[in-house]
Amino acid sequence: MKDFDIIIIGSGIGGLVCADILGKEGYKVGVIEKNKQIGGSLQTYVRDKVIFDSGVHYLGGLSKGQNLYQIFKYLGIMDRLKLKQMDLDVVDKIVIENDEKEYIYAQGYDNFIAKLLVDFPEEEKALNTYCNTIKEVCQKFPLYNFRTGSEGLEKAEVLGIDAKAFIDSVTSNKKLQEVLAGNNPLYAGQPGKTPLYVHALIINSYIESSWKCVDGGSQIAKYIARNIREQGGDVLRDTEVKKIVEEEGKVTYVELANGKRLYADNFISNIHPVKTLEITETTMIKKAYRNRITALENSVSSFTLNIVFKKDAFKYFSYNYYCCLEGSVWEAANYTQENWPKGFAIFLAPTSKSTEYAEGMTILAYMTFDEVQQWADTFNTVSDEKERGESYEAFKIRKAEVLLDAVEKKFPGLRNTIKSYYTATPLSYRDYIGNDDGSLYGIVKDYKDPLKTFISPRTKLPNLYFTGQNLNMHGVLGAAMSGLVTCSALLGNDDIVEKVKNA
Ligand SMILES: Cc1cc2nc3c(=O)[nH]c(=O)nc-3n(C[C@H](O)[C@H](O)[C@H](O)COP(=O)(O)OP(=O)(O)OC[C@H]3O[C@@H](n4cnc5c(N)ncnc54)[C@H](O)[C@@H]3O)c2cc1C
Repeated sequence: MKDFDIIIIGSGIGGLVCADILGKEGYKVGVIEKNKQIGGSLQTYVRDKVIFDSGVHYLGGLSKGQNLYQIFKYLGIMDRLKLKQMDLDVVDKIVIENDEKEYIYAQGYDNFIAKLLVDFPEEEKALNTYCNTIKEVCQKFPLYNFRTGSEGLEKAEVLGIDAKAFIDSVTSNKKLQEVLAGNNPLYAGQPGKTPLYVHALIINSYIESSWKCVDGGSQIAKYIARNIREQGGDVLRDTEVKKIVEEEGKVTYVELANGKRLYADNFISNIHPVKTLEITETTMIKKAYRNRITALENSVSSFTLNIVFKKDAFKYFSYNYYCCLEGSVWEAANYTQENWPKGFAIFLAPTSKSTEYAEGMTILAYMTFDEVQQWADTFNTVSDEKERGESYEAFKIRKAEVLLDAVEKKFPGLRNTIKSYYTATPLSYRDYIGNDDGSLYGIVKDYKDPLKTFISPRTKLPNLYFTGQNLNMHGVLGAAMSGLVTCSALLGNDDIVEKVKNA
């Protein structure tokens, strides 16, 4: 007796989108999530009564007719979300090394160019070339534009372009080269590796329109889960899948941490492909395939400092602040103990309580997993990290203070406004999301060998599929799109893309 038609392992945005779509198609779906809270990187956490986002600081493509808007509209959640469009004239402020200037990214291509022309009046041609190429690259991605039929062919032309080399080719102005890559932490860009399409698909969505969730991004997961249940499906929380078991050529059941087995016709894994393969018991997946997937590099992780402000102490601003302190924006993840942090990003979240003052601030700085390796055998949830021991607590405070010193140089007096602060490390992300190393965005794409870093939604088992940020692209938009890719593969046609387009 089967429990569900389709079981989805993990309730990140990719898994939830799959579940909602397939529920709408009449399938009985079951989402199984190991954490108490659903959503993966959509989760929020509350400290001193202040809501902090884990992985939704801002969203692109949410104006009427744009791609994320269409997906959310099709799911029927667009009107329910509490969203606030960011200031049209200032989405991101980019600060480069010792330069006092704050360079501005704005929404809308004309406005984006106009605002940068203020600081780079000689660079109109370069900015036009940059923007036109970004748009052209995005056009080559049919699904991104809800076109069907020629996915592989069209984008093949642009997969092999180096992002940094392209940006450096549009202008010889070194400062502008850095500024155009200034919000690099959005995709953890690496010189000589990151493809232009990764940069383009992300930047384009934010230039088209930029939004923040009011009171946190977990509302996205909440409303999708509600749809799933209303459609007759289920979302099981606090339930870890320990095994995916193949019998006679296909997956028949998943085994949970409590030993219970759940049976279904099809299975979708929203967890990292390496972790999926680790828990899949089968002889049908060859060692060569496992090795190929396991050898792929994951993106860097982050140290996160969440500040709770004293009441009415820090004025709210809606823009994000990306600061490169030393060297190139492309090199911030290559730090030493002496020069960390080489950069940081700051996000303030809008709340329904006050529009004038911020309740909290999130500061992210790249951190590699080796810094927390010595505590790697301790496992915890992000809400209860005390058990990792005193040395870990001391490490976090040390890092937080160094980061605060760096941020305070740009925001003098910041320390006086702090009521309390909380931190997260690569270990927190590892345990929170369920990957190996706390990687922010999963498998790193490489323009030199694009197909090697391309994960198909189909696995070697006919009824086991992948979804989530490791497929096409990371980000809420990218992972939501992966849901469409996976559903199309499972359903055997692209009808769903048409439905979303016409929603
Ligand atoms: C710090 C940070 C900041 C970010 N900022 C932004 C931003 O501002 N804008 C943006 O668009 N994107 C941002 N992102 C990226 C975006 O949040 C992610 O790309 C996206 O949410 C990933 O979705 P996913 O579908 O891959 O699933 P994930 O979010 O990776 O979720 C996977 C789920 O699977 C569960 N799971 C794992 N193993 C098991 C198991 N064995 N059994 C059951 N469940 C399991 C996990 O608990 C988790 O809930 C950010 C990410 C991070 C980490």
